[in-house]
Amino acid sequence: MDKKNILGFDVCIENEDILLDNIFNDYKSNNQIFIASINPEIVTKNYKNKYLKNEFNKQKYQIPDGTGIVWAIKKKYNILVKRITGIDLMLKICETSMNYNSRIFLYGAKEGISAKAKQELENLYHNINIVGCCSGYEDEKLVIDKINSSMTDILFVALGSPKQEQFIIDNMDKLKNIKIFMPVGGSFDVISKVKKRAPNWIIKLNLEWLYRLFKEPKRFFRQLQLIKFIYLVIKNKENENEKN
Ligand code: UDP
Repeated sequence: MDKKNILGFDVCIENEDILLDNIFNDYKSNNQIFIASINPEIVTKNYKNKYLKNEFNKQKYQIPDGTGIVWAIKKKYNILVKRITGIDLMLKICETSMNYNSRIFLYGAKEGISAKAKQELENLYHNINIVGCCSGYEDEKLVIDKINSSMTDILFVALGSPKQEQFIIDNMDKLKNIKIFMPVGGSFDVISKVKKRAPNWIIKLNLEWLYRLFKEPKRFFRQLQLIKFIYLVIKNKENENEKN
């Protein structure tokens, strides 16, 4: 996997098709994988957190899930990569899973949302095999039992960051049957149609973050992280230039 490093966080720069091929090759080989989404918020909050950085970097997959990450790679390496959003990769994994008759579990979001998301995914992909779902507010131990007894092999976790990543890191070895772990943030809210995603033209203009800010003004303080991220990337580049 070709990777670049932004403020200590590795990011895969392969295109989505190569990523998907690799993911399902690992799946066929029974490798357990955790697909980490790297966005400016995670990086800014955790660039001093050696433990989390290490947990993320030791995985095979870290996807560039954010316009800010694409910008930072261009700034630091002069390479243009395409943003891969968690929700898009999740849908591609769902689609490809039908070739393998994989068993999928949806864990997270408010009561009833994961069941709605299951229904929507079944409408989209008729042969998908979603074997279970539960809300993100249930007792974790019970959830782990549920997932294990459903013999799931692909688990999408929608608990928000960093809770979802921490859940995966803490429980990978308790969930031995799972081959693909993927944290997906607010994706179940969107797939279930409880929340609307930005129109395509806004996504193409890389302004999805602005759309979400208008829809959910309480995200304002979270999105301030983006300014800090830009500052850190520029400062880091200046420091590197000084060293050379
Ligand atoms: N959530 C959850 N359990 C929790 C906290 C959050 O299931 O203890 C869910 C929440 O209902 C929402 C998702 O996690 O569906 C987080 O969405 P957010 O939009 O914050 O994620 P983002 O896409 O910004 O990472």
